[in-house]
Amino acid sequence: MIDLEGKTALITGAASAGGLGFSAAKIMAKQGANVYLTDLDENAVSDRAQELREQGYAASSMGQDVTDELGWAAVVSAIVSEFGGLDILVNNAGIVILRAMNEMTMTDWKKQLSVNLDSVYLGTKAGLDQMRLQGRGGSIINLSSIAGLVGMSGLAAYSASKGGVRLFSKAVALETAKEKIRVNTVHPGVIWTDMQKVAIADNKEVFDSANAAIPMGHMGEPDDIGAMVAFLASDAAKYITGAEFLVDGGMFAQ
Ligand code: NAD
Repeated sequence: MIDLEGKTALITGAASAGGLGFSAAKIMAKQGANVYLTDLDENAVSDRAQELREQGYAASSMGQDVTDELGWAAVVSAIVSEFGGLDILVNNAGIVILRAMNEMTMTDWKKQLSVNLDSVYLGTKAGLDQMRLQGRGGSIINLSSIAGLVGMSGLAAYSASKGGVRLFSKAVALETAKEKIRVNTVHPGVIWTDMQKVAIADNKEVFDSANAAIPMGHMGEPDDIGAMVAFLASDAAKYITGAEFLVDGGMFAQ
């Protein structure tokens, strides 16, 4: 049902082998998509693309800072010259700055909003321009978070960025619905990636209480998110736009 044959996908923040971006890229490649991986870490993202090519998939990569407007034009133009177009954009790159309000500086705030929200604006704009030029629709998937739906202590700037991603995506979805360019958000709960490892900082007590707070009793795996992204990218989701998808082991149901 999830057939991505003939489609080309750009996934940002895809350098980490155990991250959500690489998981989405891997699953989409298995479903037939050409995948283009970008990340700040140019060497690591090149290794990930190489791994996929060694498994017989069409994959390429480029170093990219998603906060750099000019860089977006270069990435889209490289994808078009290599694969002939762009059908799927996954704005996945992100960081988490864990700071209570009494410790948060303006520098922290700006950095969080720049990497997590400005980047989604820049990427969506660049992707949209290309998709409109092609005139064959498209799917934009923006990574928000459960923290984009409810407030979380110590995560005020992160929550603001992810809440912004959620409503930005819905507004753009309304602008592009008639052109069959779908825009949706995915809201992971707690998924065991480098990002969580940083937040939990190898503290067993915090790790155990994070798992205990999840109705299913454990954190999610990157492929739980990758599978949702691949579904939204595919024509199986052709009537879905402006929507938000929680993948959280039941956390938000509490
Ligand atoms: P991760 O830290 O494993 O990977 C994020 C990647 O983004 C890294 O490879 C990093 O190099 C890259 N990156 C950071 N800044 C960048 C920049 N300026 N330009 C380009 N690349 C940059 O994180 P993850 O857990 O895989 O998270 C992926 C997305 O999912 C993020 O947007 C995150 O906020 C969101 N999310 C994750 C969780 C979770 O539990 N892991 C929960 C909710 C939301």
